[in-house]
Amino acid sequence: MSKSTQTSNIKVLCRFRPLNTYERQSSELIKIEFKNDSLTIFPTSEYSNPLTFTFDYIFTSESTQQHVYTQAAKPIIEDVIQGFNGTIFAYGQTASGKTHTMTGHDIYDPYTMGIIPRMITTVFDTIESADDNIEFSLKVSYCELYLEKINDLIDIQKKNLKIRQDKTKGIYIADLSEHYVSSDFEIYELLKIGTENRQVSCNKMNTRSSRSHTMFSLTITQNNALDLSAKVGRLYLVDLAGSERVVKTNAEGLRLKELKTINKSLNTLGLVINQLTDGKSSHIPYRDSKLTRILQDSLGGNSKTAIFVTCSPALINEQETISTLRFGYRAKSIRNTPKVNRELTMAELKIKLAKVEEELRRKAMKINSLEMVLNKNDVVECEKVVITEQTEESEDLKITETDDFLADLEEARFKLSVLVEDNFKYKSTSKDLKSNLTQLNDDNLNQASLISVLEMKIISLESSIYNKIELASKLSIEKETLSAKVEELQSKILDLEQTYNEKLVESEKLDFQIKMQYGDNEILSESTDLIDQLKAKLINEQQKYKKNQAEVLNLQIRLNQALQDMTKGRQNEEKDLLNRELKARNDKILYLENELESIIDNHRGVVAILTEDEETLKIKIENLQEILNDLTIMHKQLLTKQNSINIEKQLNIRKITKLNYKIGSLENELKEKKQELDIAEAEANKLFTDITSQSIYNRIKVPIKGGGGKGLRSSMAKSILPNPYRVYASMIKP
Ligand code: ADP
Repeated sequence: MSKSTQTSNIKVLCRFRPLNTYERQSSELIKIEFKNDSLTIFPTSEYSNPLTFTFDYIFTSESTQQHVYTQAAKPIIEDVIQGFNGTIFAYGQTASGKTHTMTGHDIYDPYTMGIIPRMITTVFDTIESADDNIEFSLKVSYCELYLEKINDLIDIQKKNLKIRQDKTKGIYIADLSEHYVSSDFEIYELLKIGTENRQVSCNKMNTRSSRSHTMFSLTITQNNALDLSAKVGRLYLVDLAGSERVVKTNAEGLRLKELKTINKSLNTLGLVINQLTDGKSSHIPYRDSKLTRILQDSLGGNSKTAIFVTCSPALINEQETISTLRFGYRAKSIRNTPKVNRELTMAELKIKLAKVEEELRRKAMKINSLEMVLNKNDVVECEKVVITEQTEESEDLKITETDDFLADLEEARFKLSVLVEDNFKYKSTSKDLKSNLTQLNDDNLNQASLISVLEMKIISLESSIYNKIELASKLSIEKETLSAKVEELQSKILDLEQTYNEKLVESEKLDFQIKMQYGDNEILSESTDLIDQLKAKLINEQQKYKKNQAEVLNLQIRLNQALQDMTKGRQNEEKDLLNRELKARNDKILYLENELESIIDNHRGVVAILTEDEETLKIKIENLQEILNDLTIMHKQLLTKQNSINIEKQLNIRKITKLNYKIGSLENELKEKKQELDIAEAEANKLFTDITSQSIYNRIKVPIKGGGGKGLRSSMAKSILPNPYRVYASMIKP
C-alpha cells in the first residue's frame, strides 16, 4: 500500500426532517435560525443562551433525497471508487430520519430512495463508463450489532461474530458472509433480504429496530489488466441505533440491558470522538465497544467519513436535537488520514526490485573483499576496504538516502514476496480458472458442434420430409386421378350392368317370347300329335282301305264268281248291284284319298311354317346369345379391370399407408431430434446460466469488465432469483 500523509476532516452533515403528523398536532417548532453552514438554536429554557453549530452542510426539512445524495454522499462513493475507504453513518434520536436518509422509504422509488440505492447506481454508472481493461469485482455484506453481538443479516445462521484485524484486511468481522454481486438488482435484493431479516427479529422485540445498529458494506476491487495494478475501496454505511437517553424511559430487565448496552456503544462512540478531538489523549478507547472497534478506521483512521446528524424540528425533542447537534459538531473536528488502498504496478515493482538487487550485489562484493582482507590479517588493507566501503556507503547515502531507502527496499522486498506469493496463488487460481474455462469452452464447442450436427440433421430431415410430402402430394394427385378413373369405370360398369340388365330383361322377354313360341310348339306338338293321330287315322284308313280293297278284291272275286254265276241271268243283276256297290266304295276311297292328301298338305304347311319360325327364332336367339356372350366377356373384362384397379388401389393405399407411416416415423424422429435439440439447448443455456449465475449469493468472485454495458442493471439479474436466504428468512418468521 502506498504511503500518504494527506489528512482530512470528517464531514458532518446536519439534516432536519419535517414535523410528523403527531408533532404537528402536539408540538411547536424549535426556534432555529439557519444561515448557510451554521444554525443557531434559541432554547426554550430562559437560562440557556443561543447555541450556534457549524457543519459542512445543513439540509432543511425541504431538502430532497437527491440533493442530500449529490451534496454529501456522492463524493464519498466517488472516493471509494478511487480506492479509498469510505464511511457514512447516521446519528440521531429514534424517528429523526436516519433510515430515511441512509436507505430511504422505498429503494426502488427514485424520489424516496436514500443514499444506499443511489450509491449503487453511481457504482454501476462508473463501471459502465470505465476503461475495459479494468476489471471490477463487488462484494456486499450486511450485519447488525445488537446487545454487543454482531449478527449476519443475510446469512442469519451466523450470529455473535468476532472482530479481527490483520495487515492486509485491516479491521474486519470474521465469518461475516460476503456476497459477490454483478448487478444493482442483486445488491437491492441482498439489502431487502437483510432488511426483512432484521424486520423478523424486530417483530419479536418491538423496539429492536431502533436499538440496534446496522452496517452495510460494499467492497469494490479493481484490477488493471494493462499495468497489473490493483486497488480496493471499502464503503461502510452505518445506521446507528436511536441516540435518545435511557433516563427518558422506565426500562427493566432485557430492555434495561438493551438500553445500557446501546448507551455503552454510543457513549464509547462519543468518548472516542471526544478523545480524538481534544488533542490531548494518547489512547483512544476504540476497543471499549464493538461499534467503535468496527468504526476504528472510519474515525481517525484510513477513511473518508461523513456523519449525518439527523434531527427532529419539534419542540418536544429540543433536548435530543441539541444533544445530536453537539455530537455532530464535536465529530466535525476529527481528522482522518485516508489513503488509496493501492498495490504497486508491475513496472514500479520491477524498478524497486532492480534497485534492491543492485544493493545486495554491492553488499555481497563488500563482504567478499572484507573477508579476503581479514583472511590476510592485513589491517591496513582492511581499513582501506572499510574506508572504500564508507566512501561507497557515503555514495550510497547520496543515492539511496541511507536507512530510509533500505527500509523502503525491505518493505518493497516484503511486498514483492507477498506479491510473488499472491501472484503464484493468482497464477494457480488463474490456471484453474483457465482450465475450467477451457473445459467450458470445450463443452461449449461440443455443444455447438452437437447443435450444428442436429441442425444439419434437422435440415436433411426437413428436406426429406419435404420430398416425402411432395411425393405424398403427387401420389395423392395420382390417387385422385385413379379414383376418378375407377369412378368412371365403375359408372361404365354400372352403365354396362344396366345395359346388361336391360338386355337380360330383353333376353328374358325374348325367352318369354321363345317360351311363348315354345308354348306354340306345344301347339305344334299338339298338331304333331294331331298329325300323328291323323297319320294313325290315315294308316288306319289305309288299312281300312286295304281291307276294303281286299274286301273289294274279295267282292270282285265274288262278283266275278257271281258274274260267272250270272252267266245265267241273274248273274247280271247281281253284277249291276255289285257294280254300284263297287262304285260307291270307289267314290268313298277317292274321297278318303283326297281328304288324306289335304291332311298331308296341311301337315306339310304347318311343318313348313313351324320350321320357318324356329329358324328365325334360332337366329334371333343366337344373336342374343352372341350379344349376351359379348356382354359377358365385356363384363368379365370390366370385372378384371376393376379387380386390377382395386388391386392397384389397394397397392396405392398400402403405399400411402406406408408413406404415412414413414412420414409419421420421420415426424417422430424429427420430434425426438427437436427434443434432443431442446435438451441440448436447455443444457447449453443451463451451462451458460450456471457460468453467469454461479456467483449469486455465494463466495465466487464475479469480475465485471469496465464499460460492461447495460447488462449489469436490474432487468438481467431478476431472472437469477429465488434467493435461498430469503426463503430461509421467511421460514423463521413467527
Ligand atoms: P430513524 O431511522 O431515525 O428511526 P426514520 O428514518 O425511520 O427514523 O424516520 C421516521 C419517519 O420520518 C419515517 O416515516 C420517515 O419516512 C420520516 N422521515 C424522516 N426523515 C424525513 C425527511 N427528511 N422527509 C420526509 N420524511 C422523513
